Amino acid sequence: MVIAFAERVLQWFEHNGRKNLPWQQQPSAYKTWVSEIMLQQTQVATVIPYYTRFIDRFPSVQVLADAEIDAILEHWAGLGYYTRARNLHKAAQQVRDNHDSQVPETLDDLCGLSGIGRSTAGAILSLAYGQSQAILDGNVKRVLSRYHAVEGWSGKAAVSKVLWLLAEQHLPDFYPAEYTQAMMDLGATVCTRTKPACDHCPLMADCRGLASGDPCRYPEKKPKKVIPNKTAYFLYLQNEDGQLLLEKRPPTGIWGGLWCLPQFDTQGALELWLDEHALESGYIKQMETISHTFSHFKLAMIPLCFRTTMSHRVMEDNRFLWYNVNTTLQGGLPAPINKLINKDST
Ligand code: SF4
Repeated sequence: MVIAFAERVLQWFEHNGRKNLPWQQQPSAYKTWVSEIMLQQTQVATVIPYYTRFIDRFPSVQVLADAEIDAILEHWAGLGYYTRARNLHKAAQQVRDNHDSQVPETLDDLCGLSGIGRSTAGAILSLAYGQSQAILDGNVKRVLSRYHAVEGWSGKAAVSKVLWLLAEQHLPDFYPAEYTQAMMDLGATVCTRTKPACDHCPLMADCRGLASGDPCRYPEKKPKKVIPNKTAYFLYLQNEDGQLLLEKRPPTGIWGGLWCLPQFDTQGALELWLDEHALESGYIKQMETISHTFSHFKLAMIPLCFRTTMSHRVMEDNRFLWYNVNTTLQGGLPAPINKLINKDST
């Protein structure tokens, strides 16, 4: 039974698996690691252009470790979940300083690096180093939950434990890299979230989820939590040359380390800030509100447009800069702020 599962998956992979992804060309542990981090909350098609630009600019763990965080964030801007980029940078420095710039080859050493959990470590070890190691990313969780009709939400420790046991039970001691890639591909292309193509699945003969008549009820969804709505005011301040005032966010928290329009809880706080900095501004208009959903709240972003002829007043503070929207920014802008700026300039 164990061999049969893996063999079926591997046979399927031979004809249907993805073998031309950019990180599969001249593969290395570093490339596998970067791609796995980018793929954590993002689809393959979205990741590819980001990955290509990132590897061109940071071709080795050493280059990444020595780079400024602003340059890394600039290449990550738009991909979201920026903690991943900060952890990647930190982990590259750990590899440079503690592992002679060689990506570690053991589960323990890999799991000791910032931002690498058991599944990512398993993926690096199997895909790059050819070790028989289980993984349990979102795609594999879906396949196993359905195939075994596993009840319960995988965020619960007891359910996760069952899924890890199953992942290890099915793990073959042959073709480890192909098997890992096959399981990821099967989840991404056949056993998809909403419309699994069971007729094309190598596991359909004994899939308990399919036999139940409703495979999509597995894996169980995370219990719904109502997320609160918040409002924030963003200062859209232009100077005499049409440049926009940007403020660098503190290194931690939402959009940490990225450039942003100055943000305030109320319109009054925004106007007070302008007074305090003696920017002597003229109010122009309230621009269109943009809504953005974070993992734990929804933010209504209200941009208020002002003009100033006193732009020199904040120049000495390097937290601020006047930004020409037609130029590239070292450090990058969060996607919703980029959207807001481009909306106005169109
Ligand atoms: S038979 Fe269908 S539900 Fe079962 S693993 Fe395959 S695609 Fe998923």
